[in-house]
Formats: sequence, C-alpha cells, structure tokens
Amino acid sequence: MTNQSNEGLRVLVVGGVACGPKTASRIKRLMPKAEVTMVEKEGVVSYGACGLPYFVEGLFSDVAMLSQTPVGVTRDPVFFESVKRFRTLVRCQALKIDRDTKKVRVRFLESGREEDLSYDKLVLAMGARPVKPPLPGIDLENVTCMRHLEEASKLVDAVERQGLKKAVLIGAGYIGMEMAEALCKRGLEVTVVEMLDQVLPQFLDRDMALLVEKHLAEKGVKVLLGQRVLALDGDQGRVRAVRTDRETLAADVVVVAVGVRPNDELAREAGLACSPKGGIIVNGYCQTSDTDIYSGGDCVVNPYIHPITGAPIYVPLGSVSNKHGRVIANHIAGLLSPFPGVTGTGVCKIFDYTVGRTGITEKLAEQLNLDIEAGVWAGNDIPHYMPQSGPMVIKLVASRRYRKLLGAQVLAVGDGAKRLDVAASAIFFDATLDQIGYIDLGYAPPFSTPIDPIATAAHVLLNKMNGIAHGILPFEARRRMDSDKDLVLLDVRTPKEYQEMHLEDERLVHIPLGQLEKRVGELPRDRDILSFCKIGLRGYEAQCILNAAGFDRVRFVEGGFLALPPKGSGGLTG
Ligand SMILES: Cc1cc2nc3c(=O)[nH]c(=O)nc-3n(C[C@H](O)[C@H](O)[C@H](O)COP(=O)(O)OP(=O)(O)OC[C@H]3O[C@@H](n4cnc5c(N)ncnc54)[C@H](O)[C@@H]3O)c2cc1C
Repeated sequence: MTNQSNEGLRVLVVGGVACGPKTASRIKRLMPKAEVTMVEKEGVVSYGACGLPYFVEGLFSDVAMLSQTPVGVTRDPVFFESVKRFRTLVRCQALKIDRDTKKVRVRFLESGREEDLSYDKLVLAMGARPVKPPLPGIDLENVTCMRHLEEASKLVDAVERQGLKKAVLIGAGYIGMEMAEALCKRGLEVTVVEMLDQVLPQFLDRDMALLVEKHLAEKGVKVLLGQRVLALDGDQGRVRAVRTDRETLAADVVVVAVGVRPNDELAREAGLACSPKGGIIVNGYCQTSDTDIYSGGDCVVNPYIHPITGAPIYVPLGSVSNKHGRVIANHIAGLLSPFPGVTGTGVCKIFDYTVGRTGITEKLAEQLNLDIEAGVWAGNDIPHYMPQSGPMVIKLVASRRYRKLLGAQVLAVGDGAKRLDVAASAIFFDATLDQIGYIDLGYAPPFSTPIDPIATAAHVLLNKMNGIAHGILPFEARRRMDSDKDLVLLDVRTPKEYQEMHLEDERLVHIPLGQLEKRVGELPRDRDILSFCKIGLRGYEAQCILNAAGFDRVRFVEGGFLALPPKGSGGLTG
C-alpha cells in the first residue's frame, strides 16, 4: 500500500536527466495528488546521453530523438506537465538549500530572477560532470567532453562543415572506446591516448584488454598506452595538436573522456554527509543524512557496500540512476523497497565486440588479497553451423573457499550481453559455480549451445578448482611463451588448421589430438608442456591424455589461440 493520503505533499527534484524524471514520474504514479516540481539548469531534460556515440556514428540523424518517447513525442516541460502531471522548470538552477525552512533558492538563468521553492521532500539528482583536466588548450574549439546533446551536435556539425580528419581521444574508458568507433565510422583517423598500460583499465583485466586492443588495431584505431597528455596546441582558437610526454599528435578534434566527478556541492554546502572522495552519502533508501532529502544517480556514492570488496562503490551509470529514482519515489510514497546494490555491471560495444564486466576482476581480487581462482573459456556463442555464430571469450573469477562467482568479463562477437547478464544475476543471487553450471537456460541453435557458454565457463573453472583441468590463463601463457626457452608448445589442432596458421617457433610440436595417445613418446617428460588448440577444449583433452600417460608437467592454454594475447605483450608488467 502506498501512502496516497499524502495529499499535496510537495516534492522538489533538482536535476532533470535520468534519476530526476524517473523519480518525479513514479511519485506521480504512486501519489497522484503530490505536487512535484523538477528543476534543471540546462535547456533540455530527460535525454539519453548513452545514445550520443551512436548519434555521432550516424546511426540516426536527429539528436532530438534522444529526448523523445518511442512514439516520437519530445519529453519537454509541456510533456511532463500534461502527460506525467508534474511541473518542470528548465534553465533553472538550484543555488542553495535552506534545511531549516525547507526551501531551495533557484535562479532562472534566462531572466536572472531568483525565487525560493518550498519542499516537504527534496530529491537531489544533480548527476556528475566530466573531469576536465587543467591542460593548456583544453578550452580550444573542437575539444569536447561529450556529455550533452549540443556537444554531440556541434561535433558532428564541425566534422561535416570543417572536414575534420584526425581525432584524438584522451582516455580509454568505455566512453572513449564508444567514441573511437563512432568517429572512425564517420571517416576520421582516430588515436586513443591512455595514461595507464591498457584500455578499459577500470573495467577489464589486462589479458581481456589486450584482445580489445588487437581488435581496435584491426579496425584502424591507433592506441597509445602509458602516455600522458601535457597540452593541446591550437591555431586561431581551434585545436590542432595534442602533445603527450612522448610525441605530438596532429588533431583537429579532441574528445576528453577521463571520468566524471559527482555534483555534490549543493549538498556539501547544506551540510549533508558526503564522501571525502566525492559523492553524497545515502542509505539503502537513498536518504541523505537529512531524512527529508533524498539523492540518487551519478551524484551519490552508491547506497551499498560492495559485497565482495567491502568498500562503498561509485558507479555513475544510467542503469543505476534510474533504479535509484524508483527507490526514492517508492520510499517517499511509503513503499519499503531498499536498493539492493550493484556489483558494477557494465557493457559496451566496441566495433564487432560486445565487451562487458560484472563484479570484480582478477586484478582487483589480487589487490584485495582474495583467495580466488580465475578461468578463461573461449568458443562460439551458438553452434558453428549457424551463419551468425560468433566467437566469445569469457573470464570468470570465483572464490576458492566458497566456490561462488565474484566476477565475469565477456568479450564477444556473438551475444555477449546475455552471458554477462546471467553472470550478473548469479552474483546478485549469490550463486555458486555449481549452480551456474546448471541454470535452466533456454536452448535452440539460433540462441545458444545446448550447454550455454556461461555454464560451460563455470564448468571449466570448476574443473580447474577440482584439480581435473590444469589450465594456464592466456596472459600467463603468453608470458611463459615469451620468456621460457625450455617450454614445449604442443599444438593439437588438425593438420588443416595447422597449415592455415601456426606459431613459427622452434619449441613447437604439432601432434593432432587424434594421434596423441599413440605418439606420446615424441614428447619429453622433463619439460613443461603447454598444450593448445583453437579455443582450449582440445588443449584440455590433450592434458588429460598426457596425464593418463604419466606426464605431470602439462597445462593447457585456456581460451586457446582465440584468447592468447599477442607476442611480446605478456612480458610487460601487469
Ligand atoms: C557519452 C555517454 C555514454 C553513456 N553510456 C552509458 C551506457 O551505455 N550505459 C549506462 O548505464 N550509462 C551510460 N552513460 C552514463 C549515464 O548517462 C549517466 O549515468 C546518467 O545520465 C546519470 O543520470 P543522473 O540523472 O544521475 O545525472 P545526469 O545525467 O548528470 O543529470 C543531472 C542533471 O542535473 C542538472 N543539475 C546539476 N546541478 C543542478 C542544479 N544545481 N540545479 C539544476 N540542475 C542541476 C545537470 O545540468 C544535469 O542535467 C553514458 C554517459 C555518456 C556521457
């Protein structure tokens, strides 16, 4: 039962993109008599910033579609007033909260007029702003952070009118990656500069990131890692070059995507509890330290302690912001449905790949000194005979002691998002690897294999934990291959596959799997053997055959050739 008797309850919402409109709309659904006002300092409300890269790419030509309903109605103040029945004030900035009198001072940016708006419940949904590093030249023309509709329109306009050719992207996070694809498909020459030693550094382990880097290179995107941008140079007010600590890159458009910072100043000034690292602190119902003031979306530290790391988590994503909006509205209406938290699930498209992560990476597990086992599986998302079948690599991280899934990374040409979401659900429901292996997932050839890839990945990791499979992770395999002269590299693929492509390496021995049992005498027993194939399965079977023949020093390369990082990459620190 909702608290509908709260007739005339005045709810003021600050911020009008994701969390704000979600909260306001749901409050009006739950409490039709509530007086809801939403204020937004920009001119546009309720738009999908997530769609900006796809507009830039040219998948649709009217940026206004991002602020329209599926039937083409613009979500503007008139729409919210008439359809959702709450008042929306645009170009209206909240300046100060007076908690004693329960008023917010706002300024109408067009006229400069100021006014006090009263509230019974206040919702702070002020989002985050892109970090703009204080670099010389950062304010030059054609340098953008890509947060608002106008920035995207301006960029597309400049590319078309000025014939821009070279783009430099600062930061290789998911927005940088999506923009790399968008600008590349617009015909620009794209270079990504990243200070750290891999792309998607907060998102993926290095071995998975290396596969993304390889794919970017195939698509013509140049990725410069470990380089720090020092300055942007211009000519007649327009950007012309990006100077790093190693080189100068010609650039006539620059996208800065190095993260976001929560807009928590209004809350801080009002004395609400905020994290020293930034972000308004809220409880499970998204209430701030003042119980009549709620907050959600990108301006809060999530009302949740990460179940694995034990630390508060900041996840500035639309998926989370909208859920916060629902939790806030529910609580104001008297529905007790606490926010259950997030494990940091994110997914993005990078050219032909779907790239996703949920939970923790192996890298983070190591930093936290957790007792984990990681495993990599590679294969096709659906049977190979189906025309749309595509390769996929899944990396799972699990607690050794509890045998529970702690994290998953998926990289797929096929349907990776489905597997990521199964993994996210499994973590959410605290599933063990054994349970994941047996979830009753649907199967028909257009959608899956009889045992879905995510279940197979769980089985592979279980085999490893149970001491049945002796796998070596791709990154470690590459490191050993790059550094260990005494290694035996046992390729067990068919002669046809071998002829099409094989390693040029004097340590290589090619024995097709079908002949292995008879030819074990050709292999040394006193050297480490890495068995491998295209995706890992035959490499694993080779390990089983050799173990049965008394060979102890055999490990199979998990994910096979598909997941193996390029030569030389394993020798770097990581
Ligand atoms: C290019 C891009 C791609 C993205 N892709 C994805 C994706 O694929 N998946 C995903 O989950 N997320 C994605 N995101 C993130 C997602 O857009 C944000 O997490 C989401 O918009 C946050 O919503 P919010 O309501 O918390 O804040 P915001 O969207 O930041 O909105 C807050 C609003 O509050 C207003 N405001 C701030 N202070 C005041 C004030 N004092 N007075 C009045 N108004 C104020 C701001 O002007 C702003 O419009 C993407 C973001 C970008 C930029």
